[in-house]
Amino acid sequence: MYLYNTATRKKEEFIPRFEGKVSMYTCGPTVYHYAHIGNLRSYIMEDVLEKYLRFTGYDVKRVMNITDVGHLTSDGDTGDDKMLKGAKREKKTVMEIAQFYTDAFFEDCKKLNIKRPDVVEPATQCIDEFIRVIESLIEKGFAYEAGGNIYFDTSKLKQYYIFNDFKEEDLAVGVREGVEEDGNKKNKADFVLWFTKSKFDDQELKWDSPWGIGYPGWHIECSCISMKHLGEYLDIHCGGIDNAFPHHTNEIAQSEAYLGHEWCKYWFHILHLNTNSGKMSKSSGEFLTVSLLESKGYDPLVYRFFCLQSHYRKSLVFSYENLDNAVVAYNKITSKIATFLKGEQGEIEQDKYDELMTAFREALNNDLNTSLAITVVHYVLKADASNATKLALLKEFDKVLGIGLIEGAQKALENEDKGEELPAEVAELAAQRAEARKAKNFALADELRDKITAMGYIIEETRQGTIIKKA
Ligand code: AMP
Ligand code: ZN
Repeated sequence: MYLYNTATRKKEEFIPRFEGKVSMYTCGPTVYHYAHIGNLRSYIMEDVLEKYLRFTGYDVKRVMNITDVGHLTSDGDTGDDKMLKGAKREKKTVMEIAQFYTDAFFEDCKKLNIKRPDVVEPATQCIDEFIRVIESLIEKGFAYEAGGNIYFDTSKLKQYYIFNDFKEEDLAVGVREGVEEDGNKKNKADFVLWFTKSKFDDQELKWDSPWGIGYPGWHIECSCISMKHLGEYLDIHCGGIDNAFPHHTNEIAQSEAYLGHEWCKYWFHILHLNTNSGKMSKSSGEFLTVSLLESKGYDPLVYRFFCLQSHYRKSLVFSYENLDNAVVAYNKITSKIATFLKGEQGEIEQDKYDELMTAFREALNNDLNTSLAITVVHYVLKADASNATKLALLKEFDKVLGIGLIEGAQKALENEDKGEELPAEVAELAAQRAEARKAKNFALADELRDKITAMGYIIEETRQGTIIKKA
């Protein structure tokens, strides 16, 4: 398999360090709020990668942290503490919201068919690990104390910037624009490993340390949790592209300084999901969550399908119109599969099976090209092969794609069998919506759609026209 490695800026053949085994680390969510569907795009694509590696026979161990302490709004060492902000917003304790949003995250994952990683470790469970590694970094001369905090000294590295040709002078304070300078830092890019001087008077979570009572920085969490469960060598590290700098850059700095050798070989970064107005946000505009999509009548697996239609290294624009197109495409696929389920099965034709399976593997072997893999699904739908052959292939593909191809088809069959008439009220709203669309009054059409979905019905636009059925 070939994967694009952000660290080398090349597509490289994936060869894990230990034959047959893959160690994989994923930056987990910061559990101060629900995940938005942009966050979940990253987790969906990472899930496909993990599943494909398993599909090809690797024994994968995947670890994910839960960030429940240390993540500030700037991603660096400034701004508000995200967890504290969440706790204040909801008038709860930090641990209460951490638990609530961790559970909510895994609920979303379940709906999106995202497998739970083998190990999930909250940062607050690993304080001793962080302290041990920070002590060692101080001993090795890679970290220093200033103004009460412990900083990583980036000037001690041969190369600090890994993922881009960042020049230090181009980076305001080494982090983000509009951020005040921390006078304790020896170098602009230095970052905090352990805070004792909290600027948050009401910092709830604090632990004793050799440097005083305080709390860890965000970056040290991922290095330590990965090393704790996956050892000194990591095959693949994943995350959204925003994490490449400063988070992953800092992870590499401290892990390699601590270990004294290369730590992680392949860096898998997912480009962002954006809206038409730009960056996805939890605080402004519509807060796009899985539950919101569900409340509008969308099946979460259709959102997963929507993500898979694009390559993970391209940014993707979310709009309801784009999602509606995905609904149409998805339903076309599942209704076609429904005809295979109903029809005569025949025997599995091995030649045809092998040919299409090879095409599927080739697509994913080429830097996880999921959009091409979906094209191969269409080849199967059109193939001159027995239903048994097609269904066997689709069942296997779905082990990786996870879009409920067979289950979706079964659901389509059930709906067909029910053959329910629409209640008059829904039919009336549908007629009004059709009129509004004809008149290009999309605001009214959307309003009517919301009414219809609130009544428990889904609207699908197909080539044959609008289909409305029970959700
Ligand atoms: P966070 O909960 O902020 O720590 O982020 C969780 C994951 O979502 C990280 O891997 C981020 O890089 C990723 N992420 C954040 N925003 C987006 C986005 N708009 N599209 C895709 N991934 C994102
Ligand atoms: Zn991380």
